Amino acid sequence: MLPTRRNSFNSIIYFCTMTEKRTELQDLGEFGLIRHLTDSISLQNPTSKVGIGDDAAVLDFDAEDEVLVSTDMLVEGVHFDLTYAPLKHLGYKAVVVNLSDIYAMGGVASQITVSIAVSNRFSTEALEELYVGMRLACERYQVDLVGGDTTSSTSGLIISITAIGTVAKGQRVLRSGAKEKDLLVVTGDLGSAYMGLQLLEREKQVFQGAPGAQPNLEGYDYQLERQLKPEARKDIIDMFNELGLQPTSMIDVSDGLASELIHLGEASGLGVQLYEDKLPIDPSTFDMAREFNLDPSVCALSGGEDYELLFTISQSDYDKIKASPHFSVIGYMTETKGAYYLIDKQEKVHEITAQGWDAFLEKRKEDIDPDKQPASE
Ligand code: ADP
Ligand code: MG
Repeated sequence: MLPTRRNSFNSIIYFCTMTEKRTELQDLGEFGLIRHLTDSISLQNPTSKVGIGDDAAVLDFDAEDEVLVSTDMLVEGVHFDLTYAPLKHLGYKAVVVNLSDIYAMGGVASQITVSIAVSNRFSTEALEELYVGMRLACERYQVDLVGGDTTSSTSGLIISITAIGTVAKGQRVLRSGAKEKDLLVVTGDLGSAYMGLQLLEREKQVFQGAPGAQPNLEGYDYQLERQLKPEARKDIIDMFNELGLQPTSMIDVSDGLASELIHLGEASGLGVQLYEDKLPIDPSTFDMAREFNLDPSVCALSGGEDYELLFTISQSDYDKIKASPHFSVIGYMTETKGAYYLIDKQEKVHEITAQGWDAFLEKRKEDIDPDKQPASE
């Protein structure tokens, strides 16, 4: 086991599998394991009436609210790689990515359920680490873990989490609500989680080529944290309430900006015009992309897992966000359904595809109706 660095999650990122104290899962049995993993969990939300321990959880929501439900499944080898994702981080991330879907509806998450399928390759201690991470995320986002299921798998680990939340009636934000000329806004910055993954994959190759080699992860804390321990933008939903801002449509950036803006465009029956020079990229991510011979804009457009919020607002709401460092206006919605364009830094026009943008598919700027440009751009 190779301790490589401490990050702000106060844990060491190891390459390689756990070799410490090991209690076999069968020593505890299913019920013993569930009790072991969940007995320190307590309920914080008044809407959580009955949690773990009965046949079903009991929740009690206000009649003025609508209830939001979202599920995601994470499969070892497909969605995560335990060579470099510490189990505590994985538990944290598994919860956060689910909560992000609730925030992307304009709601607040209040409960989760967690189901795991696990092979005997894992020890009780390993699952404890996973649950430490999940509990930390629950505390941070004030969410109660109210139930789940535990079963065995023949290989690897599968984690399925369901997040439950609420949004006041009339305030839910769908993907389909964008209007022509609405401004397209994104929170935070993009591409860093992708660069973190590039680094981890690079060091994994080195490690596999020369077992025992010390992974070189120095100086990339921000990108590693964005990849291994992302945060969901609950703070933005609180901000919307404070600003009195109701986005017209919204989605979270899990697959990548290009793919998400196409989802908004398709659901709303509109096109999108995006400006490369408006893409928010952290300077350290910009430099790192260059160092890895990647185009920083392509990383911001195609790299996923940033868990920022992408949303549209009416132009008349621009004043509410313009002074905030959390928001970047990156483009606007256009009339033509299916027309997704990027204006690059040389003012050349490119078609955006779900994978990013095709540098060979250039269009002339005049092809795009100048009358459709919003005034505040
Ligand atoms: P059942 O037989 O009704 O499915 P279980 O024995 O599977 O009940 O679960 C007992 C209790 O523990 C239930 O409240 C369930 O929600 C909870 N639970 C089971 N597995 C997990 C898990 N992995 N994480 C959290 N809670 C769990
Ligand atoms: Mg069960």
